[in-house]
Amino acid sequence: MSTGINNVTVVGTGPAGLTAAIYAARAGLDPVIYAGLQHGGQLTTTTDIENFPGFENGISGPKLMADMTAQAERVGTKVIYEEITKVDFSSSPLKMWSDEKEIISHSVIIATGATAKTLGIKDEDVLMGKGVSTCATCDGFFYKNKKVAIVGGGDSAMEEATYLAKLCSEVYLIHRRDHFRASKIMLERAQKTSNIKFMLPYSTSELLHDKTGLTGIKVTNLETNETETLDVDGFFMAIGHQPNSKIFEPYVDLDEHGYIIPHNYTETKTPGVFVAGDIADPTFKQAITAAGMGCQAAIQATKYLENNEL
Ligand code: FAD
Ligand code: NAP
Repeated sequence: MSTGINNVTVVGTGPAGLTAAIYAARAGLDPVIYAGLQHGGQLTTTTDIENFPGFENGISGPKLMADMTAQAERVGTKVIYEEITKVDFSSSPLKMWSDEKEIISHSVIIATGATAKTLGIKDEDVLMGKGVSTCATCDGFFYKNKKVAIVGGGDSAMEEATYLAKLCSEVYLIHRRDHFRASKIMLERAQKTSNIKFMLPYSTSELLHDKTGLTGIKVTNLETNETETLDVDGFFMAIGHQPNSKIFEPYVDLDEHGYIIPHNYTETKTPGVFVAGDIADPTFKQAITAAGMGCQAAIQATKYLENNEL
């Protein structure tokens, strides 16, 4: 009989949340998962995924996430297409709200991801996955022996430019200042890489494209105001991520960028509240690592419920 209290509520339907739901459902916990504003998470914004194991010829991001959702539902997950707007984890059972609607749960798995920041230039959204990307590790392979550009002046930009330089014929690193936020060691590594060409201080003013996707970019020298065209096949943005952790702030430990710091694998400082995926991972940010952590969170939530006889 339903008590009106969920055993496990998962917040977020990316790879972390859906994997957690699959494990919790198969443990007989009847999980409820909230999708938020981007059902399926970040992978729904991209085309081919070639590094998620099990798909010999790759799989499209939206298809992978639709299949994960179907799998989660088949094993007994209830998917709710609403956003969690407020939480109160100060006492047990834990309380959450989707606007005015109250949700009560013995345990919660936070899997709200981190959103890659973008420049906000025209056609950026429609070209995402068609020449434009926010993830070099994910999409660099598609630009093997081609010319690409990457924007940013932090460690991510240096790391991703260096990664791209191993695959691509030429990498333009575009940064809006002639000073860098990146650490000395990462910057020097990029500067020593012969096929990375630094463009400073430059901004990206236009994405050029035809029906198939990106064909080049227009960049502006911020000192002279002169504009030029770069014939690149790929354009990467590495200007930081925004972890979606705001509403959980009082109940979890956060690092200086807003990522949740997990303890003992996926626990948080609040009993019964677990965390999985990019929201707790400033380092790897991959679907497979998010899914792996979702599995861990569900197993730890199951043990928590058992140990507390909930
Ligand atoms: P996300 O996928 O970010 O999902 C977060 C979920 O939380 C979403 O459903 C969102 O709606 C929900 N949410 C947020 N706030 C709330 C709230 N308040 N209430 C309810 N729900 C909420 N990785 C790879 O391994 N291979 C690739 O090829 C690859 N390609 C990529 C291409 C692009 C363009 C991008 C942006 C990323 C790519 N990644 C790739 C990285 C991968 O997408 C992420 O590592 C992965 O999606 C993280 O999963 P997650 O479940 O932690 O979070
Ligand atoms: P970051 O340090 O915040 O750097 C973001 C960069 O993007 C900055 O150079 C910023 O320019 C630029 N930028 C931001 N908004 C922009 C815009 N609208 N237009 C143009 N440029 C814009 O982010 P990050 O590089 O992702 O690093 C985040 C954290 O993770 C850091 O602590 C970093 O050290 C760490 N990290 C570490 C490693 C590693 O050690 N292996 C790898 C990656 C990340 P300005 O400088 O002008 O503000």
